[in-house]
Amino acid sequence: MLSDIEIARTAKLKPINEIAKELGLKEEDLKNYGKYIAKVSHKLAESLPQKGKLIIVTAMTPTPAGEGKTTTSISLSMALNKLGYKSIVTLREPSLGPVFGIKGGAAGGGYAQVLPMEDINLHFTGDIHAVSAAHNLISAMIDSHIRFDNELNIDVTRITWPRTIDMNDRALREIVIGLGGHANGYPRQDRFVITAASEIMAILCLSKDLMDLKKRVGNVVVGWSKDGKPVTVHELGIEGAVAVLLKDAINPNLVQTIENTPAFVHGGPFANIAHGTNSIIATKLALGLAEYVVTETGFGSDLGAEKFFDFVAPTAGFKPAVAVIVATIRAMKYHGGMPLKDISQENLQALEKGMENLKVHIENVKKYGLPVVVALNRFASDTDREISYVLEAVKSFGAEVALNEGFAKGSEGALDLARKVVEVTDESKFKPLVDLGLPVKEKLQILAREIYRAKEVVFTKEALEDLKKLEKVGYGNLPVIVAKTQYSLSDDPTKLGAPKDHTFTVREFLLSAGAGFVVAVSGEIMLMPGLNKRPNALNIDIDENGNIVGLS
Ligand code: ADP
Ligand code: MG
Repeated sequence: MLSDIEIARTAKLKPINEIAKELGLKEEDLKNYGKYIAKVSHKLAESLPQKGKLIIVTAMTPTPAGEGKTTTSISLSMALNKLGYKSIVTLREPSLGPVFGIKGGAAGGGYAQVLPMEDINLHFTGDIHAVSAAHNLISAMIDSHIRFDNELNIDVTRITWPRTIDMNDRALREIVIGLGGHANGYPRQDRFVITAASEIMAILCLSKDLMDLKKRVGNVVVGWSKDGKPVTVHELGIEGAVAVLLKDAINPNLVQTIENTPAFVHGGPFANIAHGTNSIIATKLALGLAEYVVTETGFGSDLGAEKFFDFVAPTAGFKPAVAVIVATIRAMKYHGGMPLKDISQENLQALEKGMENLKVHIENVKKYGLPVVVALNRFASDTDREISYVLEAVKSFGAEVALNEGFAKGSEGALDLARKVVEVTDESKFKPLVDLGLPVKEKLQILAREIYRAKEVVFTKEALEDLKKLEKVGYGNLPVIVAKTQYSLSDDPTKLGAPKDHTFTVREFLLSAGAGFVVAVSGEIMLMPGLNKRPNALNIDIDENGNIVGLS
């Protein structure tokens, strides 16, 4: 089979204005970035009546390579179009860190891609850079404020606002800044996070319009004063300047799939420190323009989908109509105990055992009242015996299942999945598991028991102190976002399959007052990845005609 970029080059793209016109958009709603990319005014999102049905794509607990949520979302949306429905896929923007690191691009794969994939995977319309610049303006302002008399009495040892860059650069995890004497400011310890982990990214993706964004930026708490009060961006006086840097980034990016169907690729927050889905504005806009909207959520259903159902949906007023859980035979064999390097070999015992993981994800999603369709993402190494085994077994778990060959065949390979999805959609029974208004601890108890399958939640002394401090200054009832490993349903990445009766430990609480949540951190979370010994950057190259190789 051809590589992703070779397949992408065989596609015949339509001018994006044609795609926009088919959606009913007018020229004046668009700002073109060349012939194949356009930003659409975010203001339309609020004005259009919501007519679409929302399809959430999530996954079983993934292997480090990813199980194909993006690829499945794209092929499903293409197949819905082929069946005669108007469908839009909404995705996150790829981060340069993983593109040049271990994972590669995030614009789908095979015959299920969004295009132009080179642009989408690289600088695209500059949104991620804009988020970095907006974030770092706040960072620069903090140190400048301290240098010039520190009127807000900021405690330099308790600044929580990091710096950010869209690159995997482990050398920036812990740094010292401000060296070189008085003229360069006050020396202090600092850190970088990757842009996807910036609170500004979360804010961009949660805001309903520019004024909401500005207000949220003003609410960001950057650290604490020497007398224990939160210090906000509003007090620094720069929420307006930050909003100016994001005035274009707030508008969703319209592109097309390899089969010329519409796609919004907009925003890219992590699914651990943040909520892990593309912008609310893009999804809302899509729901106003199409009959079906296919949205990808990050990592497994215990992370991105949980956050979508319990936080994003109530925040935005969305009513999901069905959840598609992506599963692969490879990942199931991995959860059944096979080492990663062997998962291409047939092994029905490991498969049977590893299906326990998928079963928990199905049960969990059903707790939200949603119909479930499992999309079995077919890999070339899957054997017929393995495939029939899975198709039968999933039915016995009480879910619909379809073999998806979208990667190899595009929409043709996803028609069965699309038909099953259409058949079961029903938004009437959706209900969050956790009430947004519940106290932080109670919400965590419900999630630990119902979703992570733990027997108890333990809060460390530090976590309890954090919580007390947050409660004291009025942040005790914010929604909770859980940061935990994506490689296990539990908080321990080595516990594969379907762990139960474990202890779920909350180590600390972080405040994202602008985004409007507190983060409960369990285990170690990585906010600045590093490159591995042989990163994807070694495969990427360009020739004198501008042809790129190695992007996948
Ligand atoms: P996720 O969104 O869950 O992280 P992606 O859809 O990005 O997963 O897929 C992860 C990687 O696996 C991508 O490089 C993609 O091209 C590749 N991939 C996905 N499905 C298949 C498949 N059926 N066969 C081969 N490669 C696949
Ligand atoms: Mg993805």
